[in-house]
Amino acid sequence: MPTQPLETLFRSEVLSMSAYHVADASNFIKLDAMENPYSWPEDIQARWLESLKTCPINRYPDPEAKTLAIALRRANGIPEQSALLLGNGSDEIIQILLMALSADAAVLAPEPGFVMYRQVAQSLGLRYQGVPLLADSFQLDMPAMRAAIAESRPALIFIAYPNNPTGNLFDAEAIEEILAIAPGLVVVDEAYAPFADASFIGELGRYPNLLVMRTVSKLGLAGLRLGFLAGETAIVEQLHKVRLPYNINSLTQITVGFALDHGEFLLEQTQTLRGERALVFQALQGMPDVQAYPSAANFILFRTLNQAAADVFASLKAQGVLIKNLSPQGGLLHNCLRVTIGKPEENQAFLSALTAALK
Ligand code: PMP
Repeated sequence: MPTQPLETLFRSEVLSMSAYHVADASNFIKLDAMENPYSWPEDIQARWLESLKTCPINRYPDPEAKTLAIALRRANGIPEQSALLLGNGSDEIIQILLMALSADAAVLAPEPGFVMYRQVAQSLGLRYQGVPLLADSFQLDMPAMRAAIAESRPALIFIAYPNNPTGNLFDAEAIEEILAIAPGLVVVDEAYAPFADASFIGELGRYPNLLVMRTVSKLGLAGLRLGFLAGETAIVEQLHKVRLPYNINSLTQITVGFALDHGEFLLEQTQTLRGERALVFQALQGMPDVQAYPSAANFILFRTLNQAAADVFASLKAQGVLIKNLSPQGGLLHNCLRVTIGKPEENQAFLSALTAALK
């Protein structure tokens, strides 16, 4: 231990926070982390391994990931005039964005929302304000958003579209109003874009304060850790100063590029998962002890009506099915659980285990 007490070495915000906890999922049917459950077809996997042979891992990666950036622009329809920032997952982009803000900046996000916005903002000592969503619809509470924006003048607002953990798309007109009245940046986080039919990428030229963030994680490449952000050059340039030089490793650059070039199978997997989402939602709707919320993502939020969510979660776990218990977050998530859409047999196992848990 150092001679100085930890209290004098670390920021009080860091000392008082808990580390992001990732559950040990070994031997479970893993429906807790919004991953794509499908692996790659064998022939594609063989060609991918072949392509890695040319990867010079004795050298640092291309610091600008130029080839990958071109593939990402093409695959996501990012306009030429928008600048791009790549990150080691969109988590890293959240960190880069917040590290670049001035020390007294306020950060605002609707809640419940993606926990990293709050976690990173607080760890950096920024002022963070969560604005509750409307209770029944999980839509943006616009009078509350307008008031919070006027009061705290946020340097940055995060809007997840679709939202995690509620799964819904906020009203696009409400987001446009936020873009118009926000004094700072607005990050539309489209992590779940492969499962939704809506996007703000088409609005990039229209709103100078709009930044659109995406990830390849939910598409089926979570292990590679790659996210990206598109927006005005003058803004993205500032962010590049905070980014570490080689943040996207060579294997990720080659592999994501390869996957995007052979992307048909990923799109097919996404389509299958969308079909499964409809089936799981229908089954949950048919359960009298459950309220399920419609989702445009690859997971479904549901509330247990007559049992404690913690008990249902524990029973599912005892039956070998791991989902996410959001109830400890409280507020609008009281008695809420979130299940990621898996393979048909995994979804069936989840539904049977849930039926048993609710008895
Ligand atoms: N944004 C949202 C809304 C998310 O739900 C997640 C993952 N849970 C992320 C960003 C982070 O994704 P990644 O770091 O894997 O790109």
